Amino acid sequence: MKLTCMIGEDKGRSHFLELSHFNQDSNRVIRVDDSVEGFTEISALCESKKPDSIILIAESPLRFRDDLQIGLLPRLIEVGINPASIGFVNLNGIVLCSDSEEQVLARLQLTTALAHDRVGHGKPLSVKKIKPVKRCLVVGDILDNDVKLLEQSGIELIRIWSGDNREMLSDVGLQSFSGLPGDYQIGLLQSDNKTEEYRCGAVFVNTSSLNPDQKRQLAEAMKIPFPADTFRLPPDRHTLTAGVWVLEKENEQKTAGWAAEVSSLLDRDTIESYLDACTVNLDKCGLCGACVKTCMFSANSIDLKSARIHFDQTRCTGCGNCVTACPVLARDLHHYSNSYMGNIAANLHAFKGRDGMRILGLFCESNGYKAVNYLAGTGKRVSSSYYFLPVKCGARIGTEIIPDSFQNGFDGVALLVCARDECNELVGSLDLERRFNLYRTIMKAQGQESGRMRIFSIKEKELGNVHDGLEQFARYLADLRTDQAVFSQL
Ligand code: SF4
Ligand code: SF4
Repeated sequence: MKLTCMIGEDKGRSHFLELSHFNQDSNRVIRVDDSVEGFTEISALCESKKPDSIILIAESPLRFRDDLQIGLLPRLIEVGINPASIGFVNLNGIVLCSDSEEQVLARLQLTTALAHDRVGHGKPLSVKKIKPVKRCLVVGDILDNDVKLLEQSGIELIRIWSGDNREMLSDVGLQSFSGLPGDYQIGLLQSDNKTEEYRCGAVFVNTSSLNPDQKRQLAEAMKIPFPADTFRLPPDRHTLTAGVWVLEKENEQKTAGWAAEVSSLLDRDTIESYLDACTVNLDKCGLCGACVKTCMFSANSIDLKSARIHFDQTRCTGCGNCVTACPVLARDLHHYSNSYMGNIAANLHAFKGRDGMRILGLFCESNGYKAVNYLAGTGKRVSSSYYFLPVKCGARIGTEIIPDSFQNGFDGVALLVCARDECNELVGSLDLERRFNLYRTIMKAQGQESGRMRIFSIKEKELGNVHDGLEQFARYLADLRTDQAVFSQL
């Protein structure tokens, strides 16, 4: 069974959408409030019907996955739903480029059908069960009350860069960090330059008591992008790394009860983590080493003894960089599989853009997604020649999307991704630029118009700039069409 859930208030942008509009694509469609009652209705239905795919439609629906406080995802997991079968349709990405309610409806039907297809074919994510280590790494200052609470719960603390002895410990730093909630492996660099290895079940970071060098060191060890002197945990890392608490000014309220949360997490018998990792087909692998080179999270290595790729699922963030790099398609992702990515352009054959012009817009789940939400929120619209679809990261976009799109009648391709220094997957945007710049050269050599493909590198603080760029790109493609029409008459 396919289950489609429209989440939002009746006064929201989806007010005109009738549930019957979706019956042709889904076996069951419900509309629920964005509330505990609404989530209870969804999880009850999932528990009784065990759907093969569940699509959540809302304005900015990734919050249901990324914000663990909302609690919808844990509820669905609790009733036996594998996260790989849950997909999201962002209404903002549809409203942004639609001229009328009819267009919103048509696009929403198509996007929802594609989303069902995408998650319906994904293999279930594997689950890792961990007996938690009752030790917590504390980085920066913490309150005496929190220390007391943790110690009373039998949790040992390892503290760095904190307390009165901050000077003394200032040259002790975090060298490496890996693992899953309940069992992280950390390497602490000692003053004698030796690294001591520890295991701990949880990590707490108080960014307000750290200096920029300490934040940078921490970000490097934890493989987190570090833009403009801030230290932030990327949203998808919140899901995968539910054992890390980061106290920063913006989320001070949210983190207030962190010590109690750490106690209850480490008090469990087992912690289950779903691994949103890529897959490897060792039978196809030609041992070229491209995945070893391209992975920034050290998830791949070559095992010389067995002459095989060794893949550590627990280190993989599922960015897709190695999937794009692998020359023999031995790698794949659950959410954005090779078969899905290879058919995007063909699957949109029913889409008709403004004046017959069609532009494929792929936006990453981070700054691309934020830009789409921001623009839709300001009430701005872009040309209805665009059709926007999400993709996890620029890392997952291969150059084959260009010829595929052109062959399927698209006039242009727009890629909305993070600026290099804000990419959650560290080199996703950088590698995307490298690949596509190389492909531009090939297009030029073949006499093709390389300007038909454009990358929008988006900074979180400059989301508004994307609007003019998208409009300008649409005008450029329209002019190109006019020129081509003139040439063809000569
Ligand atoms: S990139 Fe593909 S073929 Fe090359 S080593 Fe990795 S899995 Fe094997
Ligand atoms: S998907 Fe990304 S993190 Fe996972 S192995 Fe490939 S490159 Fe590394």
